[in-house]
Amino acid sequence: MPLREECLWEKLTPQRPDRAALKGEVRADVCVIGAGFTGLSAAVHLLEQGKSVCVLEAQRCGQGGSGRNVGLVNAGMWIPPDEIEEGFGEVVGSQLNRMLGAAPALVFSLIDKYRIDCQLRREGTLHMAHNRTGETDLRSREAQWKRRGAPVELLTGAACEQATGTKKIAAALLDRRAGTLNPMAYTSGLAKAAADLGGRLFDHSAVTRLERQGQLWAVHTAEGAVLAEQVVIASNAYTEGDWTELRRNFFPGYYYQVASAPLTEEAAQQILPGGQGSWDTRQVLSSIRRDQDGRLLLGSLGNGNRKPAWFLKAWADRVQQHYFPYLKPVDWECTWTGCIAFTPDHLMRLFEPAPGLVAVTGYNGRGVTTGTVVGKAFADYLCHGDPQALPIPFAPMQPLLGVGLRSCLYETGFSLYHAGQCLRIVI
Ligand SMILES: Cc1cc2nc3c(=O)[nH]c(=O)nc-3n(C[C@H](O)[C@H](O)[C@H](O)COP(=O)(O)OP(=O)(O)OC[C@H]3O[C@@H](n4cnc5c(N)ncnc54)[C@H](O)[C@@H]3O)c2cc1C
Repeated sequence: MPLREECLWEKLTPQRPDRAALKGEVRADVCVIGAGFTGLSAAVHLLEQGKSVCVLEAQRCGQGGSGRNVGLVNAGMWIPPDEIEEGFGEVVGSQLNRMLGAAPALVFSLIDKYRIDCQLRREGTLHMAHNRTGETDLRSREAQWKRRGAPVELLTGAACEQATGTKKIAAALLDRRAGTLNPMAYTSGLAKAAADLGGRLFDHSAVTRLERQGQLWAVHTAEGAVLAEQVVIASNAYTEGDWTELRRNFFPGYYYQVASAPLTEEAAQQILPGGQGSWDTRQVLSSIRRDQDGRLLLGSLGNGNRKPAWFLKAWADRVQQHYFPYLKPVDWECTWTGCIAFTPDHLMRLFEPAPGLVAVTGYNGRGVTTGTVVGKAFADYLCHGDPQALPIPFAPMQPLLGVGLRSCLYETGFSLYHAGQCLRIVI
């Protein structure tokens, strides 16, 4: 079967409205730029607090990272909680750990409240140790989160094999706070919630200019403008145009996924039988999950658009055969890639370049929960002006040096690693 270039989540979310472009001038309390998790969570929470909101999206809602990710609803950040507190200091670090530790619960509560049908599973996630070093890392993460009262558990031996469905993993950290979903359906559900609350959403409305007009911000698109007291810049890794400095504050990296045709029920049930989503401790990680139809989804860092289909299939075969050798040959059906905003220290940045103007970037590949939390935090901050609502303080915008070079070096490293996996040099 030829490998199609198609985002599985788009196919599985058929009733996604294609909203009209903005034409003419519109007035709102807040203009949100970008209809992903961040922008839509901000919109929903602003509308809930009585603000009038207009959302401008360059493409279609969910067209950025939000509609094309793995769908892991993670608790916390990549960086272990002790390191977060060392880096930010105890007060800010513990606030960030608390907010992001509770972030899956916020996502679940929005899904419940707005009855979003997004194939949500709340069974947790499994971080899988692929070698001894990985196991040591997971033991330390377990201890750090347990000290903070989080329901995490390091599975080993038969319990680990039973949970993961593979003999190749010696230990796996089960995080019961977390889960999986169809990210496009979650995004689409947030957009519907915002529209139902009275928000005005426009697709195909790329912002081209942002300027002060008296007491208001004027947010221009090709055919219209929004006049608003406050603006949320939530365009993140997909930022189009030169109207904001945001693009110079992260470096873009990529992540691709390959999805199989639905497996037989018996075969699908053997992989991660508890229904958790997972990723391994490799530096160039592999993510592994199933969808509700029993497809196997594998993913890793790198730009799949630049790789031939035979290479992607060879890589997917290799990962599948390594972890799940008992499966019959798998038909790989489709592949897609998305862009991630990375920062050198793997920490996000919040900005307030001018009063009434807030922006964020640098989720480093953890945005389902982080975007939802930051969107809510921005809404609370803009409504009440209390910086305590934010997970971390604002930072000054500081353009990164060598953005293109960094992206290029990362991409080369990822490709070499994958080639090593295919050639069995990297086990
Ligand atoms: C392949 C992949 C896998 C991932 N896996 C996971 C995962 O499993 N779990 C997890 O937590 N995170 C994951 N992430 C990260 C997560 O998807 C992102 O961090 C998150 O989607 C960012 O959301 P956002 O709303 O900030 O930005 P986006 O979803 O990227 O939304 C930004 C929007 O702004 C729009 N825009 C850009 N420029 C303009 C403009 N000029 N005018 C108007 N609109 C504009 C874009 O079109 C886009 O729709 C993954 C990311 C990728 C790419």
